[in-house]
Amino acid sequence: MYDLIIIGGGPSAINCGLILGSAHKKPYVANKKIGIIANQLTSDMQAGTYNNFYGVSYGTSGKDLLKSSLEQLNKFSNIEQLTPDLVSAIVKNAEGFEIKTKNDTYQAKQVVVAIGHNPKVRKIEGLEPYLAQHEKSLEGQDKVALKNNDLKVTEGMYVAGVLSGCASQAVIAAGTGADVGVKILTDWNDGVFDHHHDKPE
Ligand SMILES: Cc1cc2nc3c(=O)[nH]c(=O)nc-3n(C[C@H](O)[C@H](O)[C@H](O)COP(=O)(O)OP(=O)(O)OC[C@H]3O[C@@H](n4cnc5c(N)ncnc54)[C@H](O)[C@@H]3O)c2cc1C
Repeated sequence: MYDLIIIGGGPSAINCGLILGSAHKKPYVANKKIGIIANQLTSDMQAGTYNNFYGVSYGTSGKDLLKSSLEQLNKFSNIEQLTPDLVSAIVKNAEGFEIKTKNDTYQAKQVVVAIGHNPKVRKIEGLEPYLAQHEKSLEGQDKVALKNNDLKVTEGMYVAGVLSGCASQAVIAAGTGADVGVKILTDWNDGVFDHHHDKPE
């Protein structure tokens, strides 16, 4: 049983993982089993060049960012990178969620869904009650969002990135992932707000 599984490999999912990874020394994080299913195949980043992403050099390709973001996440050994297959089901049960991919089934108490706004999201079993039309997509585009209240979809489930309904800008998507990371820190700290900062050693 995982305490948390993050699903997605774009900026929102990875930034959520980075927040929880960097907080690994906090006692209420150190005892948590955290996994990420970081599929990157259909990330919007695959097709972009990033001239307006804070801290990222002008002209950086999205493909390079996807690769380096996973390397950065790998610095944190408390985040287990699971086989990055596509998820076909996220089904709520009494203990949390059952998450299915082609070859694996995982159980998790909490889940972060950060799988982009592609219409294929509608086919994932278990997400049906939360599906909504994306309100901030360009005219004529069919994009999906999950209904949420400040990124919480239902007990134990958060949404991050463009699937939360935010505008499709990488820095905004990443920010929602970071926000969810902080919310999870707070959940694990018995509801007392907490975040994590590093300082020069
Ligand atoms: C051509 C193009 C150019 C762009 N240029 C810019 C730009 O210049 N500046 C800017 O700020 N933004 C730009 N964007 C937008 C930016 O890339 C997105 O806002 C950002 O990638 C959204 O991040 P995300 O994590 O929400 O989703 P994504 O990056 O799309 O990540 C979602 C992830 O979920 C994975 N996934 C999907 N389905 C499943 C599943 N069933 N199971 C498991 N994993 C799954 C995907 O493989 C993907 O890695 C551009 C987008 C495009 C398409």
